[in-house]
Amino acid sequence: MRKGARLFDIVIVGAGAAGIGLGVTLRDLGIENFVILDRSAVGASFLRWPRQTRFITPSFNSNQFGILDLNSICLQTSPAYSVGVEHPTGEEYAGYLRGVAKHFGLPVETGIDVLSVTTGTRPKGFRVKTNRGYVRARFVVWAGGEMQYPRTHDFQGAELCLHYSKVISFDDLSGDERCIIGGSESGIDAAVALAAAGRRAVVFDREEPWNRRGPDPSELLSPFTKARLNSAMDSGRVTLRGGCTVTGVRRNANGYRLAFEDGDVVHCAEKPILASGFAGSASLVRSLFDWQDNDFPLLTENDESTVTRGLFLVGPQVRQGDIIFCFIYKFRQRFAVVANQIARRLRVSTEPLEEYRQHGMYLDDLSCCSDDCAC
Ligand SMILES: Cc1cc2nc3c(=O)[nH]c(=O)nc-3n(C[C@H](O)[C@H](O)[C@H](O)COP(=O)(O)OP(=O)(O)OC[C@H]3O[C@@H](n4cnc5c(N)ncnc54)[C@H](O)[C@@H]3O)c2cc1C
Repeated sequence: MRKGARLFDIVIVGAGAAGIGLGVTLRDLGIENFVILDRSAVGASFLRWPRQTRFITPSFNSNQFGILDLNSICLQTSPAYSVGVEHPTGEEYAGYLRGVAKHFGLPVETGIDVLSVTTGTRPKGFRVKTNRGYVRARFVVWAGGEMQYPRTHDFQGAELCLHYSKVISFDDLSGDERCIIGGSESGIDAAVALAAAGRRAVVFDREEPWNRRGPDPSELLSPFTKARLNSAMDSGRVTLRGGCTVTGVRRNANGYRLAFEDGDVVHCAEKPILASGFAGSASLVRSLFDWQDNDFPLLTENDESTVTRGLFLVGPQVRQGDIIFCFIYKFRQRFAVVANQIARRLRVSTEPLEEYRQHGMYLDDLSCCSDDCAC
């Protein structure tokens, strides 16, 4: 251990929606000796959203009637109230997160990139290596999110494409037409934004996510996106092609050549947009988790690593069996589960978490997440 490494009870990696939300929960429990480290800024991933992208989950200041704004990360706050719009942009939402961090006096340190996390026996706990030296902690809560860790290796040549997460503004992209690989939320968001900018977009997907039906909003296009897609389709600028599995992308003299599983080939003049999802930040500490289908860390019922005691995960990569916590209104309900475990081990009273339960912010009984939806 390098001399002088600072020692905390808890290090939270990431000051996004998950890291800030968990920080408030720890504060509500009266826990003081923790730090939130971020390589960039509070809400940095939201600041990187394409300029045209907006929240698909609507915000409404419904807190007064006991229904927390869908995009709130903690009790008694509401982006609808502080930002004043129903579908905030990434920049607006980052403003809300900064406001929460300031209001609760959270110990956020920015410009600190966490490079690795290792476990030690003497002293017990974690050794967190950053670009500015080491910190030590008894618990690490991983809240590094997904946005900054795109998936770019699904097929040969995927790295030649422009990943959705790297787009600054769809208005500034060159060309009259773009091919988009992936037709879920981000692919359709790209198509809609291109159509609004007067361009054409052709969306390829191995299935037809735009026609999917079912009870779990994590697997469907949101109503907000469906409505925008319908208008874009009416403009004639968007073409949807389902049943198209891309197997490779090659660069040639005229642009890009997309090859498909059935032998079909499509030519694109401009760099294709890759909207096939994210590898997720937990991949940075891969060896500290066991993995489910290679994509999702295996977790105990308290969202702790099954192989590294004291390491917890919060945010959209959390899965419990088939239950997906990809939206803020879902994963925020697990902050109290993690905070409860940490508080017990620190011998801190967990009584303040009762209020969380009353407000739907403490989801430890997952039997409620059924797919009942009568109409
Ligand atoms: C385009 C887009 C639209 C979305 N729309 C919605 C929506 O409408 N509603 C909804 O509920 N969800 C939406 N989501 C999902 C939601 O935004 C994410 O689930 C949310 O950002 C996750 O929060 P997080 O704190 O886990 O991750 P992030 O917001 O990504 O925060 C992670 C933080 O960790 C920092 N970090 C990462 N790695 C390191 C490291 N090694 N060292 C130090 N710091 C690090 C980053 O700088 C970042 O600030 C959307 C996601 C995307 C990409």
